[in-house]
Amino acid sequence: QGRLEQQRVSRYETGWDESHLRRLALFGEFRQALEDSQLDVYYQPKLWLDDSGSLGAEALVRWRHPEMGMINPEEFVAVAESTGQIGLLTRWVLRRAITQAANWSVPAHLSVNLSALDLLDDDLPDFVVGLLSETELPPERLCLEITESAIMREADKSLHNLERLRAQGISLSIDDFGTGYSSLSQLKKLPVSELKIDKSFILNLDQSEDDQLIVRSTIDLGHTLGLTITAEGVENQAIEKLLLALGCDRVQGFYYSKPLPHRDFLDWLSGAER
Ligand code: C2E
Ligand code: CA
Ligand code: CA
Ligand code: CA
Repeated sequence: QGRLEQQRVSRYETGWDESHLRRLALFGEFRQALEDSQLDVYYQPKLWLDDSGSLGAEALVRWRHPEMGMINPEEFVAVAESTGQIGLLTRWVLRRAITQAANWSVPAHLSVNLSALDLLDDDLPDFVVGLLSETELPPERLCLEITESAIMREADKSLHNLERLRAQGISLSIDDFGTGYSSLSQLKKLPVSELKIDKSFILNLDQSEDDQLIVRSTIDLGHTLGLTITAEGVENQAIEKLLLALGCDRVQGFYYSKPLPHRDFLDWLSGAER
């Protein structure tokens, strides 16, 4: 039985058939998982390197499956996307995270990830605005993270929805920056205020001169466009020092904290308050 369990838990690179079956199983169980509170939102602290002392957190969804254990969000987000359930997942995460953030004792910023398909959902901006007024979370405290490839997929429609969110005072961030291929002129057209440099450029920053070159030019480019630059995947002090020297504005990574359950994040927040 242990072996069967192991097979079910193993990641999907082990074979198409298994991955296909696993995805089908996850699809069938997703709605139930929402009802049974198997889903949860973790929070990873985000720090400002200037002396403002501002703080933030990124909401990261988790699925604790009763038999399969923790399921990687990248896996079930993909399942939700391919089965038309992403709107359900996104709305659930938004409701949970915004409601919790509205009650934090510190006015920390909240970042929530959107999927590419969410940008094509014309009802989403009103849903978000409704949540903000319901919970009284000021729109300035909410940031929505989107990837470059998501925006470029159906640029006109996505842009329209992004502008509706921006017009409400919500800020927008380009996630995983550097992994897509947006040009400078495309970036200029987007109503975003933050670039998050993908962790693949940050994880070995202290070892790689190439990565330092890329990160330096990304920070300079971003600043030229008036954007705030965040580095994700900061795992040690040497990398923090480099990022400070390069003028990076915000940092996030295991060096500061892993994603935390809400209760632990509240402790972190009260400890971090200056
Ligand atoms: P992401 O948005 O790029 O999130 C950052 C990922 O990097 C998180 O993985 C986080 O745990 C991890 N990370 C943070 N700091 C470090 C570090 O110092 N070192 C390393 N090695 N990793 C670090 P996680 O939580 O597994 O999430 C993976 C991806 O799943 C996210 O990537 C995002 O694309 C997606 N995701 C997570 N939650 C949601 C959600 O609520 N909605 C949607 N649409 N996607 C989500
Ligand atoms: Ca993100
Ligand atoms: Ca990212
Ligand atoms: Ca990612």
